[in-house]
Amino acid sequence: MALLHGWRVCPRCATRLENDGTRAECTACGSVYYANSAPCVCALVEDADGRLLLGRRGVEPDHGKWDVPGGFLEEGEHPLDGLLRELREETGLEGETDRFLGTWMDVYGDAPEAVATLNLYWTVRVADPQPVAADDVAELRWFAPDELPGREELAFSTVAEALDAWVRTREEHVSD
Ligand SMILES: [Zn+2]
Repeated sequence: MALLHGWRVCPRCATRLENDGTRAECTACGSVYYANSAPCVCALVEDADGRLLLGRRGVEPDHGKWDVPGGFLEEGEHPLDGLLRELREETGLEGETDRFLGTWMDVYGDAPEAVATLNLYWTVRVADPQPVAADDVAELRWFAPDELPGREELAFSTVAEALDAWVRTREEHVSD
């Protein structure tokens, strides 16, 4: 993965860039571009019965696989605002953030243009469990913790890890 792969000219002034793959600098206008990971927010949406909401992806990458509601943060957007915005856009649901589950690194797209993503996961509670799938979501379905899709049916690599963590911490929470 390499965000700056193939960058040859400055997007501001079109002068040739000095690009080592992690940092690109324009000697004409002084612009500097860094290959940072793209921040994403991801919602593990729970209903009152402890079920989890997953959406089957309607677009590439990983078309047809199960994913959690979420997406890329916008510039300057607070992660918790982005989390509830993505949830609203993809499912029509109004949610309330519950607890922060963790951070997982992943890759979006195919090499060599693939970008590294930094994925922040929260659990989110919804009062009204009647989601409406957006255009890029083929299907939305509630899953009990012991009925989650297998790893090969899940999108990306970190969704499975986040679901494992959700099941594990949920059991700890229940056993308290
Ligand atoms: Zn320039």
